[in-house]
Amino acid sequence: MDFDFNEEQILMRDTARKFAEEIKPTIEDDEEHHRFRPERVRQMGELGFFGTVIKEEYGGTEAGHLAACIMAEEVAKAHASWGLPFNMQMNGPALTIQRFGNDEQKRRYIEKLVNAEILGSFAITEANTGSDVASMKTSAQAKGDGFVINGSKTWISQGHVADLSLVYAYTDRSQGAKGMTCFLVDLKTTKGVSTVPIEKKFGLFCAPTSEIYFEDAFVPKQNVLGKLGDGFKICMSMLDVTRLSCAARACGVAGAAIDASVAYALERTQFGKTLSEFQMIQDQIACMVAEHEAAKLLVYRAATTKDKNPDARNTHEVSIAKYYAAESAVMCANTAMKILGSYGYSNEYPVGRFLRDAKSFQVVEGTSNIQKTIIARHALGKG
Ligand SMILES: Cc1cc2nc3c(=O)[nH]c(=O)nc-3n(C[C@H](O)[C@H](O)[C@H](O)COP(=O)(O)OP(=O)(O)OC[C@H]3O[C@@H](n4cnc5c(N)ncnc54)[C@H](O)[C@@H]3O)c2cc1C
Repeated sequence: MDFDFNEEQILMRDTARKFAEEIKPTIEDDEEHHRFRPERVRQMGELGFFGTVIKEEYGGTEAGHLAACIMAEEVAKAHASWGLPFNMQMNGPALTIQRFGNDEQKRRYIEKLVNAEILGSFAITEANTGSDVASMKTSAQAKGDGFVINGSKTWISQGHVADLSLVYAYTDRSQGAKGMTCFLVDLKTTKGVSTVPIEKKFGLFCAPTSEIYFEDAFVPKQNVLGKLGDGFKICMSMLDVTRLSCAARACGVAGAAIDASVAYALERTQFGKTLSEFQMIQDQIACMVAEHEAAKLLVYRAATTKDKNPDARNTHEVSIAKYYAAESAVMCANTAMKILGSYGYSNEYPVGRFLRDAKSFQVVEGTSNIQKTIIARHALGKG
């Protein structure tokens, strides 16, 4: 497989790198104050970050999944929180509407998500529904010209700031997973919808997370995405792409942890030598680099297979990439903490943030165990 980036991919990577440099001066203060900046999402939209897998007729560039991954990696290398909008704007809502929506829905939402004129989200998780998506309780009952949604979602990225959410709910529970439907819900204008920010979390401090409540929230039938009962299928196909972007972000954080470790090892002196002279430190750095390079190749492979055939599922490749990249990001951030000693433990250096953010990759878009379940099923000929 050829991973020489083409001219367009290099241009997009450099644009993302420049953006990452620009946001650096405010990162630590934003992190300390858990500050989300909607204007920054708009800027990312204007720079074309959310259009790479979107058709030109809806404001996209069609540059592809590999381009999207390279950009998410670059941005996350500066600050993982700012990698999330790739999923909340493009890989989640915009691409899913492009794949499954009707003309009216595509016209109404996609370009606005790509430009970040509106903020997006997707809502699967509930208080008692995480890995087991089919166990969700939120329901949508047919009424008149639409559906009445009742239930609640939690851990929804951008939930309380978003204009739109792809909400998954049961329209016919007797059909099992085939009774789940995806709804396009205008969060700010739909009566019966309320949101609450989740203020206390371990990391990703500048990426808002929320609970969403639906109390007899009426959604017109025009807002059903795809067909009734297609929800589970739509959700799984969406996760293939959002997982991939998450894996790319994990590579970004691992890269940042390596850079910080190398810089510190070259500068810090103990026993009359820089840390870089100690073989144990070299061993730690070598292991980080090898893990990081392997993770990047897996991510680029999964992105390339998706680019070759965007409509085919490549869950297996994506799960391997997501699992490996998430684990290697945690390993690299953890090792960076060790190499920096007490300074790693200080907020003066960013490696604590790398570790906090890296841990999210083992959970979001399907935990590491769930990725391993998918990989094992494939290996055992069961999936
Ligand atoms: C920062 C953040 C942002 C998020 N953003 C979103 C979002 O935008 N939209 C959204 O819908 N959700 C979002 N989530 C939720 C996320 O997708 C879920 O947390 C994730 O799917 C895991 O679900 P859970 O936390 O309920 O864990 P559980 O499913 O309860 O799992 C708990 C533990 O049990 C393990 N486990 C569960 N089932 C199995 C099994 N079959 N085999 C082996 N081990 C198993 C898991 O691996 C895990 O270690 C977000 C979460 C976080 C932390």
